[in-house]
Amino acid sequence: MNSDPAEKLTITRLFLGNANAYIVKSGNEAAIIDGGLGSWPERFRKTLADNSGALADVRYIMVTHAHYDHVGSVKALKQAYPDALVVAHKNEAANLRAGLSPVPKGTMWFSRPISWLGCRIFRHCIHFKGFAVDLEVEDSLITELGGTEIEFFHTPGHTSGSLCLRVGQEAVFVGDTIFHVLPACFYPPFADLPERLIASWQRIAATGARMIHPGHGRPFSRTQFVARNGYF
Ligand SMILES: [Zn+2]
Repeated sequence: MNSDPAEKLTITRLFLGNANAYIVKSGNEAAIIDGGLGSWPERFRKTLADNSGALADVRYIMVTHAHYDHVGSVKALKQAYPDALVVAHKNEAANLRAGLSPVPKGTMWFSRPISWLGCRIFRHCIHFKGFAVDLEVEDSLITELGGTEIEFFHTPGHTSGSLCLRVGQEAVFVGDTIFHVLPACFYPPFADLPERLIASWQRIAATGARMIHPGHGRPFSRTQFVARNGYF
């Protein structure tokens, strides 16, 4: 199966609370990536509708990782699209079911005290409405969406079960494995396993996908990412 030409794909970024969620449409099928901060199912429904109001067939609701600012709409989306599979890495499934968002470790001078404070205020976990994971990914899962090859793959670092999604050769959705809030600054301010981040970045770069879509900040090209980092 080959990836389809980019014109068949549409990618929409929704800014929800403080984080990005995305809708990828290929043909009449759609995948949702993350649910943002707060529950906004109507925002998704509007994007999923075409000009005539017909809804795309939602095949996957992918969760990049179990942090409260990326999962807010997922429970409502699963109710709205019960045939869609909720996809996550197996290491995140228990926390997603229980609605637990562990406070991650800070990696920078400003984020270490935030993490320290968060652990004390929230007793190490922030709570959200939990939901079941239908499809637990281990290392990699290749399937298709509306005729386009897609791949879910494991990128530990920000959390132990962070998961990315490659869509053909056009796009890779990376959650918080790569941040892009400040220009040309990609390192996440929080990471539970920082020693595994660079290998995960190399795996993302090795996909060859044209654009990288982060959980926070604006999308950027893989060429720009590789040029800025000496790890590849
Ligand atoms: Zn996160």
